[in-house]
Amino acid sequence: MSDFLIDEFEDIEPYNPGEQPTDREYLKLNANESSFPPSPKVLEAIDKAQINKMNHYSDPYCMELRKAIGQHFGVGAEQVFVGNGADEVLSFCLMAFFRPGMKICFPDITYDFYRIYAKAYRLDYEQIPLNEDFTLDIEPYIMSDRDVIIANPNNPTGLALPVSEIERLVASRSDRMVIIDEAYVDFGNESVLPLVKKYSNLVVVYTFSKSRNMPGARIGFAISSEAIIRDMNNIKFAFNPFNLSSLAIAGGCAAVGDEEYFRFCVDSVIRERAYVEDKLRRMGYEVIPTTTNFVFFKATGIPAGRLCEKLKDQGILVRHYNDEKIKDYIRMTIGTHAEMCRVLNEMEKIEKGFASDVENA
Ligand SMILES: *Cc1c(COP(=O)(O)O)cnc(C)c1O
Repeated sequence: MSDFLIDEFEDIEPYNPGEQPTDREYLKLNANESSFPPSPKVLEAIDKAQINKMNHYSDPYCMELRKAIGQHFGVGAEQVFVGNGADEVLSFCLMAFFRPGMKICFPDITYDFYRIYAKAYRLDYEQIPLNEDFTLDIEPYIMSDRDVIIANPNNPTGLALPVSEIERLVASRSDRMVIIDEAYVDFGNESVLPLVKKYSNLVVVYTFSKSRNMPGARIGFAISSEAIIRDMNNIKFAFNPFNLSSLAIAGGCAAVGDEEYFRFCVDSVIRERAYVEDKLRRMGYEVIPTTTNFVFFKATGIPAGRLCEKLKDQGILVRHYNDEKIKDYIRMTIGTHAEMCRVLNEMEKIEKGFASDVENA
């Protein structure tokens, strides 16, 4: 640490991304990425002419992309904010609407970035415990006087709340900002988006990183009231006006326009997920029902951390958390059928080896 770092940042917590080791080739099932490439239309859009345009700045209003997203979701471009990934969208949202000490709450087991941002922005945050079975009880959020961030479906549990529950929260106080992170909504869930027309205190956050197969492009967006979006854009213009590259804007427009490819990829994940859930249950694992592109399951034979390490030895990465409440669980991204057969097969071998080690001990 240098002599210059301010005290407030001495204990800042960095986000811990799914590991990306480079010592060999790995099957990466630890970051909820997609096994499908982006839409072929993205490749067409980022052509030579587009690359040559890099001698100019990108459009700071990102108008083309906001229009394309707006059209797709049935709202005006004035209701769409785009950011360098959903992470940046969340960051600008907290920057615009929260000063240090302001009260916010989110579940104790959820996307780590909420806590990390809350610390970085020095908010007064409360982590509300999920129920024993990882379901979320909306009552304490409704009773609280705090603003709220909820990932719906949640990560890493994969569980989702019905829209009616979220509406009760949004309607409970018009002066409460409710941020709903719908990173995984496309994999079989109902979106809260229609509520944006009815309530002016709701911000819905999305990403191209999961269902649009483009985490490397860094594109996220928020849909909310015109007033909230205008504020977020004003803040953005004071920090990083050109937050999306011209290539990301072009690629994003192409991706959002390719409904057919989007459906194909999402349907493939949903189909494969049903196979994996069933197979895991039959192997004896306790699987949390999921409507995302990942499964969250409890290790029953070999401890979760060991299973994770042993899979890594076989060139497969899955996610294991040290958090006491979920230390027995593994989060695994749904890939192609061949990839899922490979990991399930390795898991069977590992479990057998472990069982015979225990017997021989
Ligand atoms: C993956 C994920 C994001 C991150 O999105 P980016 O657009 O890649 O920044 C946000 N929220 C949740 C809940 C996620 O799982």
